Amino acid sequence: MLTCDKYHMPTSIPEALAIWQDAAEGSRLVAGATDILPWAREGRAGDVNLPAMIDLSRVAELQGYKVANGRVHLGANVVYQDFLTDETLRQHLPCMPFCSIWFADDQIRAQATLVGNLVNASPAADGTPPMLALNAELEIVRLDGKALKRRTIALSDFVKGPGKTDLQPDEIVTAVICDSLPGYGGSFQKVGQRRSLVISSACAVACIKMAEDDETVEDIRLALGGVGPVPVRLDDIEMLLRGKRITADLITQASAMPAGRVASRTRQEYRRTVVKGFIEAAILDALIECGVPLPNAAEVENAHV
Ligand SMILES: Cc1cc2nc3c(=O)[nH]c(=O)nc-3n(C[C@H](O)[C@H](O)[C@H](O)COP(=O)(O)OP(=O)(O)OC[C@H]3O[C@@H](n4cnc5c(N)ncnc54)[C@H](O)[C@@H]3O)c2cc1C
Repeated sequence: MLTCDKYHMPTSIPEALAIWQDAAEGSRLVAGATDILPWAREGRAGDVNLPAMIDLSRVAELQGYKVANGRVHLGANVVYQDFLTDETLRQHLPCMPFCSIWFADDQIRAQATLVGNLVNASPAADGTPPMLALNAELEIVRLDGKALKRRTIALSDFVKGPGKTDLQPDEIVTAVICDSLPGYGGSFQKVGQRRSLVISSACAVACIKMAEDDETVEDIRLALGGVGPVPVRLDDIEMLLRGKRITADLITQASAMPAGRVASRTRQEYRRTVVKGFIEAAILDALIECGVPLPNAAEVENAHV
């Protein structure tokens, strides 16, 4: 069971930072609490009593999002359900509805923040590969005396390893800022012990923009999670495909490439096979979302298992 001596609900960033700075060692920030609550149950951390919990869910600055200059600024309290139901987010972040639909269940999606998922830094966190593909940065704030000191860090530098990030003890993440990709087709593949209410064993994301001829890849973004200590962007495959006419052979060639990236200590052969199928399925599903003719209908059938 999780208990705490004090439960704070600040409504502004300066208030939250002041409480956080003065909180006794062992205190925790909390947003949706969907990671912290299971962590504190018997069998993981066991019964836990925290000196203080600082609940960020009422902080005004962390709510909502805005789209400007080709980027989406997602407040730290944006939850997974928003990526499913908000039409503007669906249009600008075309891979996120597919990521969200396989994320937990309705109740957890309504609570779970993208930022909590990124800070948790699980190698198999569903939110990290899409955000890597969208060139995400985290906006972070701390108190410097009484002034707010802000910094921005690329997600690829923020996640250091399983459960490890660059977040410093006195800091709070205020936002995730990522590319806006209207006009792209998006997709997300995930495998775990079962299909819903499960943390991924591995996951893959694709975002594709096709040129006007409907045959040439104008831009592509690909990333993988669950194959090593941190999720990875697949720049080499992106380079292979960008500017090329999409064919079944090219997709087969591309999907064979990331097998060497599987660095997990467990179930390596299984993950290699999964990853190959994932990349193929991710590309084909994203092409379907683009509404272009597919290179080979038989492959689609196989990829959609
Ligand atoms: C039943 C169930 C199913 C799940 N399914 C999935 C799944 O399919 N895929 C998946 O990836 N995960 C899944 N999870 C894990 C969890 O829901 C996610 O990681 C979620 O996104 C965490 O967000 P949260 O807001 O609940 O984080 P919290 O539990 O509130 O916090 C998580 C961590 O982030 C820190 N934190 C939160 N906000 C901030 C901030 N603004 N600044 C600094 N630090 C912050 C907290 O201190 C804590 O260390 C599941 C969990 C459960 C219980």
